[in-house]
Amino acid sequence: MGYIINPPVITTLPVRGSNDLFPIHRIYCVGRNYAAHAREMGHDPNREPPFFFQKNPDTIVPNGGEFPYPDKSKDVHFEIELVIALSKGGKDIEEAEAMDCVFGYAVGLDMTRRDLQGEAKKSGRPWEVGKAFENSAPCSEVVPANQVRGLESARIWLDVNGKTRQDGNINQLIWNIPETIACLSGLFTLAPGDLIYSGTPSGVGAIIKGDIMKGTVEGIGEIIISVS
Ligand code: MN
Repeated sequence: MGYIINPPVITTLPVRGSNDLFPIHRIYCVGRNYAAHAREMGHDPNREPPFFFQKNPDTIVPNGGEFPYPDKSKDVHFEIELVIALSKGGKDIEEAEAMDCVFGYAVGLDMTRRDLQGEAKKSGRPWEVGKAFENSAPCSEVVPANQVRGLESARIWLDVNGKTRQDGNINQLIWNIPETIACLSGLFTLAPGDLIYSGTPSGVGAIIKGDIMKGTVEGIGEIIISVS
């Protein structure tokens, strides 16, 4: 028996120092995980447990790729994020065991149609049209965790056309990496191949065609994406 249509292609990311590929299962994203960003979006960072949304694996754009300015929006924003790549999953993972699930890290951009997200928030509708559109999840190669040092206090920043627009530190995460994995695994069954976009520091803003975005997490690397 064969497939009645061609089966979906598995999206992959390169793995640093290896010819192997990291296959992507699901993409989870954390909302408002840096206090200064929560404030700039008009929320009190002290009163919220973490919350999550998803993107689709086939919305990944690899490092060096192009982000085509999407339809139906006039206010598309960048969000630089540390991405956590899981090699193990499970349900109700304890914080103390959470780091055993981490294969490595990457630098990602949670591209957002802010105007459509804003309309969805206002009318109590889902966020997919603002968050899960085509090419909305640029992501760098995955760096195995055993090659990463000092991530707890690594600088995370984004330059657009050479000017720094977002500049934060991983030590500013409201919910740190094990807390995020533990909480997320209470809501979803995590699996090998899952990516978690861990939230963005303050300074989010709009891009236009022709812009060059360069995002960096100290100790992990960078991603360069041009807006076409
Ligand atoms: Mn985000």
